[in-house]
Amino acid sequence: MISVEEALEILLSNLPGLRIETVRFQAALGRVLAEDLVATCDIPPFHRSAMDGYAVLASDVVNVPIELEVAGESRAGGGMPGALKAGQAMAIMTGAPIPEGADAVLPVEQTQTVADCRKVKILTGVKAHENIAPRGSEGQTGQVVLPCGHRVGPAEIAVMATFGHYLVKVYAKPSVAIFATGDELVEFDQSPRTDQIRNSNAYCLSSQLRYMDLEADYLGIVRDDREELRSKMLAGLDRDVLIITGGVSMGEYDFVRDVFDDLGLEILFSKVAIKPGKPTVFARKGDKLIFGLPGNPISALVTFECFVRPVLGRLCGMTSPELPRMKGELLGDMRQSPGRTAYMPAWVSWDAGGWKVEPLQWKSSADIIGFTRANATFIFPKNRDFLPRGETVEIMLLPDFFARQR
Ligand code: AMP
Ligand code: MG
Repeated sequence: MISVEEALEILLSNLPGLRIETVRFQAALGRVLAEDLVATCDIPPFHRSAMDGYAVLASDVVNVPIELEVAGESRAGGGMPGALKAGQAMAIMTGAPIPEGADAVLPVEQTQTVADCRKVKILTGVKAHENIAPRGSEGQTGQVVLPCGHRVGPAEIAVMATFGHYLVKVYAKPSVAIFATGDELVEFDQSPRTDQIRNSNAYCLSSQLRYMDLEADYLGIVRDDREELRSKMLAGLDRDVLIITGGVSMGEYDFVRDVFDDLGLEILFSKVAIKPGKPTVFARKGDKLIFGLPGNPISALVTFECFVRPVLGRLCGMTSPELPRMKGELLGDMRQSPGRTAYMPAWVSWDAGGWKVEPLQWKSSADIIGFTRANATFIFPKNRDFLPRGETVEIMLLPDFFARQR
């Protein structure tokens, strides 16, 4: 049985090449740039005032207070102003061009208008260059402002708009299909017989994908039947990534691995020292990647985050799509039988200058209800059987950690 770290190494050494597509800049939100974007002009395009006030020559306002003649105004979008002569001031607004001859802006609060506004009284001095953003100080024509590989958020969208990059190259999203396996499964809108349960994994996994901005094609429930599994798998292999749940354990009716063999898939691992989720299978056929996740709902959820997310994130062009980790203080004694790295549901909160990790009750890897109370999992190292209260443990945050409320 391989470790979680070995499984990740195998996953990352089996990634296909990335595809690139061109999208309108607003559609690039959350995507990863597949090209360098350069500044198409200087920003600011002119020496720009950072204040509402008066443009002056700093050397004119050394001895204050002093009255200066007001030589017109410069306002944003009002054209380029005329030049300023020594002894003059020009009314100026935030974002407006600095007139030639001025080298500083005095905030309006440090001035007083005199009688008919033809003069202004300057109350304090100002250093040369103060309150001026020089031309090109934020970006110079030709400079790479957003490098290839950069993930696009709202600020990046603003930069694209600033430079008129309305069509941009990003990494294409992988296509993903999901199906659930199990003779016992019915859909959410059906009434299960006493020996049946409703399929929840397909919907949990689709939601986890949606948190990654990916939409999956859901192919339905497949019976524990080799032929049916085979034809559904063939359909699923149309997509870049196929995710299957259930049917990967050692039971008499767990046929998923057999069908992988039937279809000539290369099985890269089929057992990982992780709890929950030991029977996780990863396979490939050419550039297609296939995950067989265990059927137990928490196992499916956790193995998705540990193994599927790192792969899908990289296929989207991200370099570190893993869920964030941090350390915190365990608030209760915890035991386990060693041998597998365990991901235990926890509520993590900031308290008295540190992260506190409250382990949550859960009955088994099937107890998805227990898992709804968690905002993180803490990691129980595989070589330990006991973690005492007060121990510093590693935490893996769930994707909606910051949004979860108690
Ligand atoms: P399996 O991995 O097929 O052996 O299933 C392990 C456990 O998970 C069994 O109790 C199944 O009934 C349950 N299970 C399998 N698939 C699903 C599913 N799609 N939704 C909810 N529970 C499931
Ligand atoms: Mg099953």
